[in-house]
Amino acid sequence: MITSKQLADLIFPEVTKTIDDLEKLFPSRNLPQGAEVTRFAPSPTGFLHTGSLFTSMICQKLAKQTNGVFYIRLEDTDTKREIQGSGEKLLDEMKQFNLIPNEGYFGSYQKGNYGPYIQSQRSEIYKICIKYLLQQGLAYPCFCSSKDIEELRTVQEANKILPGYYGPYAKCRSLSLDEAYEKIKNKEPFVIRFKSSGNHNNKIKVDDLIHGTFSIAENDQDIVIYKSDGLPTYHFAHVCDDHFMHTTTVIRGEEWISSLPIHLQLFKAMNWQPPKYAHVPVIMKVDENGNKRKLSKRKDAEAAVSYFLDDGYPSEALIMYLMTIANSNFEEWIFEHDFKNMEEFEFSFSKMSLDGALFDINKLQFFAREILARKTKHEMLLMALDFANKHDQNLLYHINLNHEYFEEIMNIEREVEKPRKDYYKFGNMLDYIGFFYHDLYDVNIDINLFNQNIDKTIIKNVLLDLKKLDFSKPQNEWFEQMKEIASKHNFASSNKEYKQNKDMYVGQVGDVAEMLRITLCNRKNAPNLYCVMVVLGKNEVMRRIDKIVTLL
Ligand code: GLU
Repeated sequence: MITSKQLADLIFPEVTKTIDDLEKLFPSRNLPQGAEVTRFAPSPTGFLHTGSLFTSMICQKLAKQTNGVFYIRLEDTDTKREIQGSGEKLLDEMKQFNLIPNEGYFGSYQKGNYGPYIQSQRSEIYKICIKYLLQQGLAYPCFCSSKDIEELRTVQEANKILPGYYGPYAKCRSLSLDEAYEKIKNKEPFVIRFKSSGNHNNKIKVDDLIHGTFSIAENDQDIVIYKSDGLPTYHFAHVCDDHFMHTTTVIRGEEWISSLPIHLQLFKAMNWQPPKYAHVPVIMKVDENGNKRKLSKRKDAEAAVSYFLDDGYPSEALIMYLMTIANSNFEEWIFEHDFKNMEEFEFSFSKMSLDGALFDINKLQFFAREILARKTKHEMLLMALDFANKHDQNLLYHINLNHEYFEEIMNIEREVEKPRKDYYKFGNMLDYIGFFYHDLYDVNIDINLFNQNIDKTIIKNVLLDLKKLDFSKPQNEWFEQMKEIASKHNFASSNKEYKQNKDMYVGQVGDVAEMLRITLCNRKNAPNLYCVMVVLGKNEVMRRIDKIVTLL
């Protein structure tokens, strides 16, 4: 009679180490009381999802505020879905949001005492653990083909039976050790399944830091823990890794809640204490039809973090915005702290909403405006350069014409008590500031913008007179001059005055300012006109007025 130990030895002859050896290799972490060990565990299957950014931000925050450890583990056991290079790309994107782990996978290298941090390099560890389960009779080899599994499902569905490989439907569970031994000796392909002791009619109570304590059906599926390619499935790898890496709180997407009974059962079978769990709500959006739905990789550009980076949103705005989704009290806090020192905010799971976090791009833009308005002109230059270098050659060309000039543009109504909030991203910056650059100004002239109700000759004469405006004087004096010129050409000095005596005037001083604005900026809305003139400088102001006068 074959024993379970003999079967385990036949399957894993090369495995001689034991769980005890692993425990010694990965001793408890020496951390202060209350320190949390968290991890971000992406699969290298594509881009950094906005939901993953949300989760990893919370992981980092919790570790930081408790003097703990935040690490990254690359979960690459699903080799079929792997996309080459996506691991490095994820790291690069995280870095741009300042999400830099304390240990773990860093692309070309790994750092820390609990590695390897790439699952495909941990196969020996998993094998030791699976061998242990086989020896204990808590796992068994399964020889069913995918066709067998499909047939089982068809029968179950036809008979309205809960589908899956469990209890009486777990065919290989009832194979004797001798039979299994024989099949393996005969080189029959197999996977290894966990022998669940559960019953789906039982309810178990589980704890979650966000969802609280709730009841859920016990697991009775004999899930695959070891695949025919020699790697474990997510379920088993998660349990082993979070045990040996000493994760204290597993923070992951809500889609994993339904697997929690499996994971708790696996921890129990291994005689390990499970970590705390926090299942983070899925990020939703309101779609075109007004319905709430999950941000979709296929349908929504904003599902990928790269969307915001490529368009030049300030990364801190996205992080700050995501924190408002994460904690309901954060928004008030950040206003009180003038949009600064976010790291001092105390994150708490209890302040997290349960009903799906709603993504609102307008709110993100609002945060971005607040943040960019608080930057200095030099910080704006550096951010713009960083963005333009990677994503916008046209912007880069114009900034590089003269850095000081760009800073002066950025400085218009910036370092004042109530700064302007024009900018929320760098991707559309040239739309706002293009007119400051002579080449872009010249190609965008549009004389149709002038008020059609005012005679062109009047506009011409006013503009020629406006050449006398002296903007080396303070703004109030400059404006008085403008009023004088306006009145000379029969424009009222205020809208009120104009309204009282419309017949007496051509228009009011605002119309004169608009003429000048269109002349200098090719548009009706622009930043403070006085500042625009100062930045453009006398020669360019004269050139533009002369040019427009000839075109009118
Ligand atoms: N690799 C899993 C995923 O990408 C990780 C889930 C977890 O954090 O445990 O969804």
